[in-house]
Amino acid sequence: MAEKWSKHKFNLKLVNPANKRKYTIIVVGTGLAGSSAAASLAELGYNVKAFCYQDSPRRAHSIAAQGGINAAKNYQNDGDSVYRLFYDTVKGGDYRSREANVHRLAEVSVNIIDQCVAQGVPFAREYGGLLDNRSFGGAQVSRTFYARGQTGQQLLLGAYSALNRQIHKGTVKMYNRHEMLDLVTIDGHARGIITRDMVTGAIESHEGHAVLLCTGGYGNVFFLSTNAMGCNVTAAWRAHKRGAFFANPCYTQIHPTCIPVTGDHQSKLTLMSESLRNDGRVWVPKTVELSQKLRKGEIKIADIKEADRDYYLERKYPSFGNLVPRDVASRNAKEVVDEGRGVGASGVAVFLDFEDAIKRLGEDAVRAKYGNLFDMYYQITDENPYKQPMRIYPAVHYTMGGVWVDYNLMTTVPGLYALGECNFSDHGANRLGASALMQGLADGYFVIPYTVGNYLAGLGFAPVDKNHPNFEKTRKEVEERVQRLLSLKGNKTVDDIHKKLGHIMWEYCGMARNEAGLIKAKGLIRELRQEFWDDVTVLGENEEMNQSLEKAGRVADFLELGELMVDDALNRRESCGGHFREESQTEEGEAKRDDENFSYVSAWEYQGADQPEVLHKEPLEFEYVELTQRSYK
Ligand SMILES: Cc1cc2nc3c(=O)[nH]c(=O)nc-3n(C[C@H](O)[C@H](O)[C@H](O)COP(=O)(O)OP(=O)(O)OC[C@H]3O[C@@H](n4cnc5c(N)ncnc54)[C@H](O)[C@@H]3O)c2cc1C
Repeated sequence: MAEKWSKHKFNLKLVNPANKRKYTIIVVGTGLAGSSAAASLAELGYNVKAFCYQDSPRRAHSIAAQGGINAAKNYQNDGDSVYRLFYDTVKGGDYRSREANVHRLAEVSVNIIDQCVAQGVPFAREYGGLLDNRSFGGAQVSRTFYARGQTGQQLLLGAYSALNRQIHKGTVKMYNRHEMLDLVTIDGHARGIITRDMVTGAIESHEGHAVLLCTGGYGNVFFLSTNAMGCNVTAAWRAHKRGAFFANPCYTQIHPTCIPVTGDHQSKLTLMSESLRNDGRVWVPKTVELSQKLRKGEIKIADIKEADRDYYLERKYPSFGNLVPRDVASRNAKEVVDEGRGVGASGVAVFLDFEDAIKRLGEDAVRAKYGNLFDMYYQITDENPYKQPMRIYPAVHYTMGGVWVDYNLMTTVPGLYALGECNFSDHGANRLGASALMQGLADGYFVIPYTVGNYLAGLGFAPVDKNHPNFEKTRKEVEERVQRLLSLKGNKTVDDIHKKLGHIMWEYCGMARNEAGLIKAKGLIRELRQEFWDDVTVLGENEEMNQSLEKAGRVADFLELGELMVDDALNRRESCGGHFREESQTEEGEAKRDDENFSYVSAWEYQGADQPEVLHKEPLEFEYVELTQRSYK
């Protein structure tokens, strides 16, 4: 396995430098995955057209990443290695990812850090000048590289600089404020996309020899999530309808450390980085009575004696303590809240306490490590986390599911690739912290530049026929859909429907799911979809900047994806990672996998509107990692 990627690279066909400029590659999305891919491919000599819906690639959701990026550099001499990163990631994903993919990810992780440092990414350094590391969940070594609480921002500035260099050289043509609304296929191969200019409304065709989807995750199907408001599934979903299988749609990551929901007025949630669990201790009062008194304001936090505090993660998982993986930390928070031991006015929160860390390290040291996160918490809650514990609760954060890809990152549509959070990726049923940035940059800088050439080398040099009738046909279909949306003049706003969808998904397909709830959810989503097309209102015209129209298109896609997520969750009658089926748990309440029957990737094939999708099963084989009941005790 350790040699598989090297051997594979050697066997891939090459495109000679002079021929590269005969090919055009469309890159949809310029977050970390897309910017790194577009910059690298243009540097190699390909013509690249890159698209994003923001006014600049710098606004991609990647910029929100706080905590850090993993790499097996072993700077700490604490026993890390490529193999250990590989092992932790396969185990962290609850044995539902491909071994070879994860090993490749661990291998190239070290190159990513070198590349980013060369670009000038200001990673934190320790006193000797070496890059500093901190710990993240699911690992007992420190391998997370970080730039304060702004790692995503700094990495994106690095990738954006590389991209910008190519834009100025003319090798990348950048289309900001363009939303991909469909995929054009010719003879079954991806040959272009249809976009809407979000400023003028112009519906345009763009042709290319290959199309890369780098369009991020679909966590906003839950309405409330830590994702940026604009994150959506449209590009991936439209490609799915053109033949790209969708894999493991029900694997959603619920992140344990978010600022709790305060009411129905909110439009998004805020993450408190997992890095805080390095020093913060998670606890709730030991008894329901104490918790009630605290909520009613009859006692203060300081009145709860040490002996009356339940540091439940440290108690239940002594080896990993507060650094258990996210799925385990989230489920345990839900459990203590369900028992009635939650804190805060709603009772739907637990404490993340820095008192010990401040005593041990001093407030200045804590500020240096986490200052911007503490400020953010203070701004949002008006509570000072240096003086009292933060209140946190799990929230939707990341989607491990996505477009199915092979080892070359190609989807089931030849010439169509998916990178970064958009693909079903290397994270199995649960992503370990700091591994999404690693995967997005691995895909963009170190995998696709090799694999796309293998496809292009077999194509010949003819330019894509822009006059092929499929361009006009697909463009017309997009126009008709836009007009259909604009004709909706009901009584509900798009947000009304989106919120309802979010409630259904969270209630029945969120942190825990069961058969009866999922069946109910399927019916509710169908009714809601009908309500959308019968009673929603979409304001304005196409020929203008129209956020109502943009949202409507995205929510219509979420309403279809939501049902597929429920179907996928129904099919998977086992618990694994972020997918907790209540019917399948150990005596201790931990997720219980069923390796005999469910050790596969679910890949769903679209069959037409309102038709049940066909499930394909890609078996997962484990040669190196032994499948065991995951334990962090
Ligand atoms: C608050 C927060 C903190 C996080 N912190 C960490 C962390 O510390 N470490 C870590 O490893 N991971 C972290 N993650 C996860 C990580 O940030 C993301 O998984 C990753 O950045 C996704 O990168 P991407 O390039 O795949 O997608 P994105 O950055 O989401 O980029 C998507 C791109 O696609 C474009 N796009 C989408 N749809 C269309 C369309 N239809 N047409 C045209 N363009 C389109 C967008 O404009 C954008 O350019 C965090 C996530 C959140 C929400």
